[in-house]
Amino acid sequence: MLYIHIPFCKSRCIYCDFYSTTCGSDVQKAYLEALCREMELRRDYLGLNHELSSVYIGGGTPSLLGVESLNHIFSAISGHWSLASDAEVTLEVNPDDVSPDYAQSLTRLPVNRVSMGVQSFNDEMLRFLRRRHTAAQVHSAIRNLLDAGITNLSIDLIYGLPGQTLDDWQSDLDQAFALPISHLSAYALSYEQGTALYRLREQGKVKEADEELSLSQYRMLMERAAVAGFLHYEISNFALPCLQARHNSGYWSGKHYLGLGPAAHSYNGISRQWNNPDLREYIHRFEDGAAANCGSNSEYSEELTPGMRREETILTQLRRAEGIDLSAFSENFGEQECEALLTRAIPYINNGTLVLNEVACNSFGEPNNQHEREKFLSLTKKGLFVSDDIISSLF
Ligand code: SF4
Repeated sequence: MLYIHIPFCKSRCIYCDFYSTTCGSDVQKAYLEALCREMELRRDYLGLNHELSSVYIGGGTPSLLGVESLNHIFSAISGHWSLASDAEVTLEVNPDDVSPDYAQSLTRLPVNRVSMGVQSFNDEMLRFLRRRHTAAQVHSAIRNLLDAGITNLSIDLIYGLPGQTLDDWQSDLDQAFALPISHLSAYALSYEQGTALYRLREQGKVKEADEELSLSQYRMLMERAAVAGFLHYEISNFALPCLQARHNSGYWSGKHYLGLGPAAHSYNGISRQWNNPDLREYIHRFEDGAAANCGSNSEYSEELTPGMRREETILTQLRRAEGIDLSAFSENFGEQECEALLTRAIPYINNGTLVLNEVACNSFGEPNNQHEREKFLSLTKKGLFVSDDIISSLF
């Protein structure tokens, strides 16, 4: 799995803590050169002759790059790796970038999935969040992508917005599920330190949404998604059958991945590496001459102890409807650790927030009878509402 970070945005949304800058196109050119050098230096990170099962171009705003720049990136990728015949290749886009011509130009790339940051269909909310687009632009962007033949579409929404009522959220969900999308990611608004939104709350200018209301919005999300035929396959993710995000599912199941670009993380099963979130430093690091000295590693690395890997497995796998694969858990961390996990799980199994399944579930509470496997420990629908507490109690 390969992740490429495009650290450019036209402007900053008030809630966002992803690394990006508002630098111009001169810096973009230098960035692409640096990115290609990092790619070359780290090509063997996932093993020799590795075949990529997924590529995710995220950001930032990858759709700020013209098709020539994206083509440059994909040519570099194909120079180092082969893509699996069924590889998922996702590009993140902002609605206001997706003109008919832009959508058409994407068909010249290996992109077969588009993920669009919609966040809301309410223009007032979009302005509050400092998004650059309007709800009307979302509809045009989707139409342009469909006209170009790009049909595997995912959108992101945010709930728990200040002042957002249950009716407002219902309207967002109605509009989302009326679109020909195959995937929906929906997140509760979070107040991350260092963001403008965080400062506004500190200054008393923004009031956080009531927790009960956010929970009702989450409940409504689950109900509306089920009616629309979407599987609830991860705490914040919903998909039509067989169209779950394979790249993100890889993160949640502990697959190895290489992340390129400033702030990008990589994982090889033993350690986690990451690059400093600093574009100019990154470009300098991979400039001609400098690149020869920086080797094939990221700037930072953290060796994961078995305890850290165990906690990470619990944290990420329990987010999936499938839950924790207990036979793999036992194989990786030992029978004793698996027994200890099950002992810690007993109170939650007894109060109906966790369940032991004989088979892996496709959607929370719905066993998947087609893939009989060993036992799985997963959250129930009731457990989804207290998942943070449960997960930390299982560490
Ligand atoms: S939410 Fe997306 S578009 Fe907005 S600042 Fe963050 S990365 Fe950029």
